[in-house]
Amino acid sequence: MTLDYKLLSHKGIQTLSPYQTGKPIDTLKRELGLENIIKLGSNENPIGCSPVVAKAISKQLDSLHLYPDPDAYELKSKLAAIHNIPFNSITLGNGSDTLLTSLIHAFGQEHKTILTTEYAFATYAIGAKAFDRELKLVALNNFEYDVDAIIDAIDNRVSMLFLANPNNPINSWVNHNQLLHLMANTPEEVLVVLDEAYYEYMQQENYPDSISLLSKYPNLIITRTFSKIYGLASLRIGYCFSNPAIAEILNRIRSPFNVSTFAQLAAAVALGDNAHLQRSLAVNNQGQIQLKQAFDAMDLKYIDSVTNFFSVKFGGDAMIIYNRLLAKGIIVRPLAAYGLPNYLRISIGTREQNQYLIYALQEILGK
Ligand SMILES: *Cc1c(COP(=O)(O)O)cnc(C)c1O
Repeated sequence: MTLDYKLLSHKGIQTLSPYQTGKPIDTLKRELGLENIIKLGSNENPIGCSPVVAKAISKQLDSLHLYPDPDAYELKSKLAAIHNIPFNSITLGNGSDTLLTSLIHAFGQEHKTILTTEYAFATYAIGAKAFDRELKLVALNNFEYDVDAIIDAIDNRVSMLFLANPNNPINSWVNHNQLLHLMANTPEEVLVVLDEAYYEYMQQENYPDSISLLSKYPNLIITRTFSKIYGLASLRIGYCFSNPAIAEILNRIRSPFNVSTFAQLAAAVALGDNAHLQRSLAVNNQGQIQLKQAFDAMDLKYIDSVTNFFSVKFGGDAMIIYNRLLAKGIIVRPLAAYGLPNYLRISIGTREQNQYLIYALQEILGK
């Protein structure tokens, strides 16, 4: 081959490093010939999705040959009713990560800057690079958001701000008053994308009621997902609330059948099973306590969790620990790509999975 086809791609893509996912269970089985694998690498719900969802999907199998509803009427109506927002302010995505990328595609203006924070969820940087947009990172304060520093960084070159609330991998978050302060000090032509992938885990009383701010701040955009607490990561479905004009633009660039019939159905049914949500929360809350106690007992430093994962610090290169955990059939997530080479991100599992992880760490660390 004489021609380097890479050079025909967009400039940003030529030097793009793709998103690093958690290792899939079957991959590790193949690589190490292991049978029993515990995956604590992708912040999935360890007890799975609602059993009502699985049942509803199995009843729908005779429609595999039909294209999905391009407007997702049932699901969007349900979301609109639950949150008391207009139907036309909702956009669905094949995973919320596609919505984040679409937002950059549509609104990351040429020759302007996309703003986010240090250690922000990787998709924002990847999206900015893919569309060749400059990315600026606002420094954190001891792994916490510094809202005034964010406000100071918003100059007339900034087109959009991406704020993960809370952020993966470091659990930083802003409360309602901080968000109000941010919105009040952001010009209306700067879009504020609030990524609430872990919204359902947030029990804190002062966690923002972001939806209540949509009518006052037309530049506010909220994204959420069914991949995390709802346990539907494999179906790829997320949603976005915005003012209808922004939703209309997002709908122009999505592919018409971007969300499958099964994803639409599963999401709509999942919204109705509050008992499963509460069970999932209870498992997670217990797991938070269990893991914290164990990390403390092992003298491990960690960034405290408000979500379904911890980022844990090891003395030295965490890849050594990562590989030793893999050898024991436990998948976690290295954070070197986030500039945190001594950290591993560990999702909270079931009580048994957490206990197995704790035993493994005790053995590896000799504690
Ligand atoms: C998991 C995650 C998402 C994306 O989830 P999808 O599966 O694409 O819906 C978005 N933002 C953050 C911060 C996440 O951790």
